[in-house]
Amino acid sequence: MAAVTFSDLNLNKQLLKAIADAGYGQPTAIQQKAIPRILSGQDVMGIAQTGTGKTAAFVLPILMKVKYARGEDVRALILAPTKELVMQIEQVTRQLATYTDLRVVVLYGGVGPKNQIANLQQGVDILVATPGRFLELYRKGHIFTKYLKTLVLDEADRMMDMGFMPQIRSILEVIPVKRQNLLFSATMPDKVIRLSEEFLDFPEVIEVTPQATPAKTIQQAYYRAPNLKTKINLLEFLLKNDEFTRVIIFTRTRAAANDVFKFIERKNLGPANVLHANKGQNSRIAAIKAFKEGELRVLVTTDVSSRGIDVTGVSHVINFDVPVVYEDYVHRIGRTGRAELTGKAITLVNEAEEYHLHKIEKLIRQPIPERQRPAAVQVAPTSFAERQQMAKEIDHQKRLEDPGFKGAFHEKKKKPATHKRKVGGHKRKRR
Ligand code: AMP
Repeated sequence: MAAVTFSDLNLNKQLLKAIADAGYGQPTAIQQKAIPRILSGQDVMGIAQTGTGKTAAFVLPILMKVKYARGEDVRALILAPTKELVMQIEQVTRQLATYTDLRVVVLYGGVGPKNQIANLQQGVDILVATPGRFLELYRKGHIFTKYLKTLVLDEADRMMDMGFMPQIRSILEVIPVKRQNLLFSATMPDKVIRLSEEFLDFPEVIEVTPQATPAKTIQQAYYRAPNLKTKINLLEFLLKNDEFTRVIIFTRTRAAANDVFKFIERKNLGPANVLHANKGQNSRIAAIKAFKEGELRVLVTTDVSSRGIDVTGVSHVINFDVPVVYEDYVHRIGRTGRAELTGKAITLVNEAEEYHLHKIEKLIRQPIPERQRPAAVQVAPTSFAERQQMAKEIDHQKRLEDPGFKGAFHEKKKKPATHKRKVGGHKRKRR
């Protein structure tokens, strides 16, 4: 596949900046395949599970097409089965649309329609909605579909399981016939294939095979560690063990990779080197070669730089943090246990990361056993900033699971509740 960076995908500066802010390093498989096709105007059927980056795979080209705020009426409609999913899509869309003036409106049931109608009235470019609430507001005359050019059905398999087919059919009747259709589904049962035949015109079918089954030769485990400093202590403890002969350590960010590498050097736990995108190609190749030939004991890397590390005999993979693109977990641990050799994959997990760990367990369809942290590992206190950061993350996760969740983090800031509620009561602030 030729395109390996987001700049190769013909996205504009505003989007590339937002992508960098979001911390996406490289496009995922579904993004590499789907974005060029969607941009070229084709209908696409994407078979991809949550965790593959599928949301950005359709949101980015939609943002490119819709480009800037224009008129009053919706030009791209994304339908999703649940309020939770609508909110997740909204979050990704708003994040990636940061440097545009695009207006995103969300519609879902379970709450009164008043605010949603008010939002629609202020003008909308991209609408993210559950089918039921969309139809309800359409029928009441709050949505004008004439300018709709792109329709996405996300998690089509779930929509069908939840019995949304009649609503979807009604929606197809009230939107322009000439439009681009995108259908995403985690699985491809017969009913989704039939829907795609009815709904898509010569679609390009893109499937990211869930490489979601780790090799049986890999023994997986995780340790809980409440904070960064404790993770470092645990890492030191592990690396003092001679069984760790050839180790790859993964971190989410370059900064963390550098820090971990420096720590290992300082403690003489190497020889080690660090790989990341800031390093020149030659020094990366040299580091991988040294690791392959056994001159290095430890290689520290981010997900982005990890591609192309094809080294047999890796005794351990240590995930210093839990990857948020869940398929990366499988890529990461697949660096060990190659060529029928056995290998161990150890993940260090703080409280905020447990959420992602459970999603990974779902994706790989197997539990990852917990191992007790050795008593010799000193547990460091959590800094205020780190605690705030984790509390925020956990809040965010809870809200994704339950949009009604008010957020313990914000409640902690004591506010004169009764007074505030009255003032804020008549109009909820848009996110
Ligand atoms: P999804 O499969 O759309 O549910 O996305 C799963 C997670 O991956 C989300 O938390 C995104 O923020 C993240 N993500 C999406 N694309 C990328 C990327 N190219 N690199 C890193 N993270 C990504």
